[in-house]
Amino acid sequence: MSLHILVTGGAGYIGSHVCVALLEGGYQVTVIDNFSNSHPEALERVAKLGGGAVTLIEADLADEGSIDFIRQQVAERPVHGAIHLAGLKAVGESVAKPALYYHTNINATLNLIEIMGAVGSNTIVFSSSATVYGEGNKNPLTEAAVSYAPTNPYGRTKYYNENILRDLYISNNDWRIANLRYFNPVGAHPSGLIGEDPQGTPNNLFPYIAQVAVGRREKLSVFGGDYPTRDGSGVRDYIHVQDLASGHVAALQFLHNQQEGCTADVNLGTGKGVSVFEAISAFERVSSRAIPFEVTARRPGDLAEVYADVTLARQLFDWEAKYDLEQMCADHWRWQMQNPSGYNG
Ligand code: UDP
Repeated sequence: MSLHILVTGGAGYIGSHVCVALLEGGYQVTVIDNFSNSHPEALERVAKLGGGAVTLIEADLADEGSIDFIRQQVAERPVHGAIHLAGLKAVGESVAKPALYYHTNINATLNLIEIMGAVGSNTIVFSSSATVYGEGNKNPLTEAAVSYAPTNPYGRTKYYNENILRDLYISNNDWRIANLRYFNPVGAHPSGLIGEDPQGTPNNLFPYIAQVAVGRREKLSVFGGDYPTRDGSGVRDYIHVQDLASGHVAALQFLHNQQEGCTADVNLGTGKGVSVFEAISAFERVSSRAIPFEVTARRPGDLAEVYADVTLARQLFDWEAKYDLEQMCADHWRWQMQNPSGYNG
């Protein structure tokens, strides 16, 4: 019998790649999504790539009024776990609308817990973020990094959700919880059929670079050229979204293989830092396009350098990232070229 996994936010950037990886791994997949920042077309393409159907529950997981409906739908089949990605993710917007972020991201988690309890399933893989580490830690960041002071409401929702799930395990040791702390997901499925489809002006580096390369935007602003890094620009640990997706499947397998309940906080990154200038050069090489840029002021809240210690993921999940920067750029570029306006055209 194949295992049945709920994927909240399954139509989104990371969710769609996770769904394909699950289908390829022989899992049955049910997506809960309200398409607030995603497109139904993504799920059509997931089914094509994964060679299997995806059941959709179109609903807002953060909405109290939708819980009965979702629970009824979920209860129609046995559930063997959830991968919880539903939530809002724009740092700047979270500063402007903190209540919206707390309401949406925390309620989605609380409602998922209630639904999982009601259907008798105790396995949750949570989409957390390296942003939980906040400032003042030493690279590479280990899971035990000490500061744990996220610098914005978005990061705090990730931090609180991790703690909610940990408290859940403390209340009942049958729960199996993995908080996956993503570094910087980039790239796309090598088919070019699914990828990141940001609404409006992209906040993140790679989507912005890709839109400059394709001619949708004039030039990139490099936020800060005077950081104490090797070339003055910010350094991050970019991870191919395909690696991230396989990391979720590995986490799920780890939780299912445990004799007892457990909780684990695990970094998903490559362990390597890449600067903004290095990312620009790699993208230019791969796309054969020039990326005009201008160095501007630092973006408030940005850290100079962030990269992961990836030892724990290797130990617990027998997983490590395998795609390099060239591959990340090549796949991101293919997606951008094939879908210049995202899923809308
Ligand atoms: N960045 C930049 N220009 C942009 C977007 C990002 O120079 O238009 C830099 C940013 O300062 C950071 C890196 O690129 O050093 C990654 O930023 P991103 O927003 O993608 O991820 P973050 O690490 O901030 O979550």
